Amino acid sequence: MTIETTSRPEHFLHRIIREDLESGRVPGPIVTRFPPEPNGFLHIGHAKSICLNFGLAEDFSGRCNLRFDDTNPHKENLEFVESIQADVRWLGYDWEDRLYFASDYFEQLYVFAQELIRNGDAYICDLTAEEIREHRGTLTEPGRNSPYRERSVDENMDLFARMRAGEFPDGSKVLRAKIDMASPNMNMRDPALYRIRHGVIHHQTGEAWCIYPMYDYTHPISDALEGITHSICTLEFEDHRPLYDWVIQHVSVPCRPHQYEFSRLNLAYTVMSKRKLTTLVGENLVAGWDDPRMPTIAGLRRRGYTPESIREFCSRIGVTRSDNLVEMGMLEDCIRGDLNERAHRRMGVLRPLRIVLTNYPEDGEEWLSAANHPQKPELGERKIPFCREVYIEHEDFMETASKKFKRLVLGGEVRLRYGYVIRCDEIVRDAAGEISELRCTYDPDTLGADPEGRKVRGVIHWVSARHGVETEVNLYDRLFVEESPDALEDFRQGLNPDSLQVLEGCRLEPALADVPAGEAFQFERVGYFCRDSGSADAKRPAFNRIVTLRDSWAKISAQE
Ligand code: ATP
Ligand code: MG
Repeated sequence: MTIETTSRPEHFLHRIIREDLESGRVPGPIVTRFPPEPNGFLHIGHAKSICLNFGLAEDFSGRCNLRFDDTNPHKENLEFVESIQADVRWLGYDWEDRLYFASDYFEQLYVFAQELIRNGDAYICDLTAEEIREHRGTLTEPGRNSPYRERSVDENMDLFARMRAGEFPDGSKVLRAKIDMASPNMNMRDPALYRIRHGVIHHQTGEAWCIYPMYDYTHPISDALEGITHSICTLEFEDHRPLYDWVIQHVSVPCRPHQYEFSRLNLAYTVMSKRKLTTLVGENLVAGWDDPRMPTIAGLRRRGYTPESIREFCSRIGVTRSDNLVEMGMLEDCIRGDLNERAHRRMGVLRPLRIVLTNYPEDGEEWLSAANHPQKPELGERKIPFCREVYIEHEDFMETASKKFKRLVLGGEVRLRYGYVIRCDEIVRDAAGEISELRCTYDPDTLGADPEGRKVRGVIHWVSARHGVETEVNLYDRLFVEESPDALEDFRQGLNPDSLQVLEGCRLEPALADVPAGEAFQFERVGYFCRDSGSADAKRPAFNRIVTLRDSWAKISAQE
């Protein structure tokens, strides 16, 4: 049998799965899972894992489960459970009726632990956490057996039942696997399987349990109970694979899943560990998990990223087993490419300079036609109002400039995009001598086309002063000035103090007045923007800059 896959780029896991299916090791269909711990919001690294697990299931007509790995109730909560589901769905993936919680298996996990005890493969240990550490040995020295290692099966069974019944305080006992204290792999030196935790209310099981299974024990059994064929995780779990296999071999689970590792996504100029993201949120160093500067899915969504652009990014970075650092520019390139195709064009002026057209009637008004997408007539057009006073971008005017300056100068001409040619006749200054206004004249014969022989310097964007919508615009820069904040002693030292610049008094064409939050537009010549979802009931809608039109990061790096 030959298995064909879709057009997604092939990687080593495709080859492994195809071999497994062709050889019959896996009778098929394949089953994968995405197993987040609900102790924070998902980030772009998780998106890689989501696209990989759900993508492989799609490629091989298999299934992918969503499973919450919820064995640390003191760090988890329902808000995270809900945000994770919303984010996976938003990315475009569907687990159908296969939403699971490791806590669904607590009873079965308990019974399997009894099986280990009965077979002499696990024991209750009374050493303190510190003593266990002391007994564990080092990478070069073997560990020492716990004095409790040879407890009888009956005593272990009895103590385990009493642990569950709540007779012992936190930390006084653990259930440990009886494997090998001399193993060169530290994970195999009698790892803990269960610990006692009183007084926490689990978001799924409430107060039903005061003992909780460890991740390394829970994960393989959960995989087996769900019939997972390919359990895919990041490389830091490679050393845990022998323990994964040991657990699967020592309890009577219905099937034997295999674990495969790939390298995690590291993105330059940001952090991705949930502990660090939690710190940023907890210490108000950002405005929440969905702050548009955060590498979280919720942050990227609020910033204006599309699910398609994130999936494209995950496809471009590929799946390997070697460590690497991906440039933020690659993520930006993906959203730019996506929005270039589909975002409607609009005009917005970020730093307005008023222009008075002295030869235009005082109360005159025209509605000019403008294409929504110059290369895509099928996207239609809208009308934009024009009148005697318009705003242009401050940086589109210079009093005098060389011919290379393709914008407005005193005495020079430019075309207003979709409108007339204007000439600057006079500069008006405020008391401080700063330019506050330009007096210009327009040429009524120039609408639509340049008259024969007429040379204007360039075409600039503008917004009617009378009709324009005044708004705030958030300009985001990278959250960190350090390429690898993780390498710093305190990652917070690497934060960029100027990661958010708020511009006030920006003017947008009226078609942008009531657009829904999140819908992206290209402000011509300026960048891609969307209305911020956090400002839904604000009086004036704030807009977020999603990304610049060109790769400003590459430009910045080139200057450095
Ligand atoms: P922490 O940030 O504390 O290490 P975590 O990111 O591993 O936590 P989990 O909820 O356990 O959090 O992750 C769920 C899945 O996502 C795991 O299978 C994990 O391997 C994967 N994952 C996490 N971070 C990345 C990343 N940067 N790149 C690819 N996959 C990742
Ligand atoms: Mg983890």
